[in-house]
Amino acid sequence: MKKSGKYSFGMGDRFGHQGSAQLAAIIEAGKKGIEITPVWNKSNREHMIIGTEPGDVRKEADEVTRKAGFNKPYFVDADHINMDNVDRFIESSDFFTIDVASYIGKLAGEELIRNFVTGSSKYTGELKIQGIKPYPVVTDSQITNIAKKYLFAAQKAGEIYRKIEAVKGKDNFVAEVSMDEVPVPQTPVELFFILKMLGEEKIPAQTIAPKFSGRFNKGVDYVGDPLKFAAEFEADLMVIDMAVKEFGLPANLKMSVHSGSDKFAIYPYIGSIVKKHNKGLHLKTAGTTWLEEVIGLAESGGDALAFVKEVYAKALEKTEELCAPYADVIDINISALPSKDEVSGWNSSKFAAALRHVPGNPDYNPNMRQLIHVGYKLAAMKMDEFFRLLDANEKTVSQCVYENMYNRHICRLFDIK
Ligand SMILES: [Zn+2]
Repeated sequence: MKKSGKYSFGMGDRFGHQGSAQLAAIIEAGKKGIEITPVWNKSNREHMIIGTEPGDVRKEADEVTRKAGFNKPYFVDADHINMDNVDRFIESSDFFTIDVASYIGKLAGEELIRNFVTGSSKYTGELKIQGIKPYPVVTDSQITNIAKKYLFAAQKAGEIYRKIEAVKGKDNFVAEVSMDEVPVPQTPVELFFILKMLGEEKIPAQTIAPKFSGRFNKGVDYVGDPLKFAAEFEADLMVIDMAVKEFGLPANLKMSVHSGSDKFAIYPYIGSIVKKHNKGLHLKTAGTTWLEEVIGLAESGGDALAFVKEVYAKALEKTEELCAPYADVIDINISALPSKDEVSGWNSSKFAAALRHVPGNPDYNPNMRQLIHVGYKLAAMKMDEFFRLLDANEKTVSQCVYENMYNRHICRLFDIK
């Protein structure tokens, strides 16, 4: 069976130029004793906006690993696919994030719901999940509600899984089921029964991505109570442990955190809880590599700085349009965005500092960072110019990408000093 390893990192590289720098961060972690499997992910939405094909990500991953002599497993993730768009990903991907968010809340057949509830009767009363205290108390009507909300989605996940399996063959890919892009988080008890459903669908899921409490906005820090998150995360790990034993799911089933990148406030908790229980982890970091490209170009000065200033000026004009597809995962305070005129007077370090995610730096502006994060379309519209500048300033840009991935993400998460 293709396995995603104990630790894996989902990395986005929207424009396909930074795979080597990302891989260098993974290799450096390996030297420090933390083996991480790189997974390059790109969603259908990103492909549509940029005009790339899933095969392009495969090409990049194969190329950068070969160049680096990296002979460990790596994957190409069909990120957040569903029944409507899975086809174009099947050939080139070997990791599939099966997204069932849009099916949640749709009703499965009445009889199927009844059967699920009957088949779950042994779990009513105190649900004795090792490591969770006090044990949650579960009722029939609660299981009915969970089945009404999630059973249809689990069946859809099964359908999508089988569609992929029919083409690729059973053991030739990693399956993840995700339901993080929804408004309401799943409780540990819900997660338990969802995993039962996935077991019944015989989906050999190696990773599961629930929605956690708190805001996971793209490219900026966690908004919420880190301690509450930690308790929920730990309970979910215990749920996975029991579900593996009860429902015939793969023994290496692990938690997938769709972090949206940069959740610095909770990384230390995630790292220490995973270590405490000797569990695996998939951490998806989203396409913030694009932000590092902008920061690197800003630092390079000259026409590169002028280019990113222009991107920002355009983003200000098109704020509404750029934010619309990401409405649930960004929170931009428009009044805190610096004006075009103000930014036009900035030098390299001022522009870079506004975007670079260094908490506590008074120049850091999370609103501007989020706007640029969703503004990659503007660079896509001037692709030739953008690529010329990336190539001309490659050293500076790839250093930014590397430092971001290694120092700010990997070291924080795994407590590497
Ligand atoms: Zn996600």
